[in-house]
Amino acid sequence: MDTTIPHNLKIIQNRIHDACLAHNRDPNTVKLLLATKTVPATKVLETLKLGETLIGENKVQEIKEKYEVLKTCPHTNHFIGHLQTNKVNEILKYNVSCIQSLDRLSLAEKLQQRLTYEDRYIDVFIQVNTSHEESKFGLHPDAVIDFVQQVSAMDRLRIKGLMTIGLFSAEADKIRPCFKLLKSLQAELRSLDIKGTSFDELSMGMSGDLEIAISEGATIVRVGTAIFGERQYPDSHYWPETKK
Ligand SMILES: *Cc1c(COP(=O)(O)O)cnc(C)c1O
Repeated sequence: MDTTIPHNLKIIQNRIHDACLAHNRDPNTVKLLLATKTVPATKVLETLKLGETLIGENKVQEIKEKYEVLKTCPHTNHFIGHLQTNKVNEILKYNVSCIQSLDRLSLAEKLQQRLTYEDRYIDVFIQVNTSHEESKFGLHPDAVIDFVQQVSAMDRLRIKGLMTIGLFSAEADKIRPCFKLLKSLQAELRSLDIKGTSFDELSMGMSGDLEIAISEGATIVRVGTAIFGERQYPDSHYWPETKK
């Protein structure tokens, strides 16, 4: 049997645990989300069977392809990729409980409309571009409060937190400000106490920078490569260089 996944998973669990202890945080306050893009359903299933419960996909097509295999093992599914408005009806067919990548009004409106029609609700996180890189999706930090005000009026969307992808850099002092910015937005939004919103969740930190994210207050870290190995496609396949 291939022991790579159990081995890698253990290392990640230990890293999360150690980072929590190092920063006076209760390890139970940080959830591990398995970033499963390009990972075959059988491998994801293997990881769920090791006790993991939260997965995140970047493409609706992959959720669809893995659905039959994964539904045999209880888990929670979040969406962490760029969601095209024309994929809203499709994604709602699967058991996705949270869209972590809400980043524009047209998407919020389409979700609200379809969820009203289906008489359902969904959790959302607001994705913020904290690194000021053109290639990343997410709202400009200055636009977040207005956006939250508008989305808070959409009763089908339950705003639960914020999500960001930190700067890709080996230098902690360049990554940390991204996470600090998300944390300060959380504090600002909490103080505004906008009806129908809560900002308990901060989804930030990946394979390379989860310790920094935990030290800055992450409640969900999203880990792919460090558990499943290098991906076959470059990330630009998921995060296109130019925004449409
Ligand atoms: C792929 C991906 C991750 C995981 O990145 P790794 O570096 O492989 O751990 C986290 N968040 C998002 C949005 C992703 O697309």
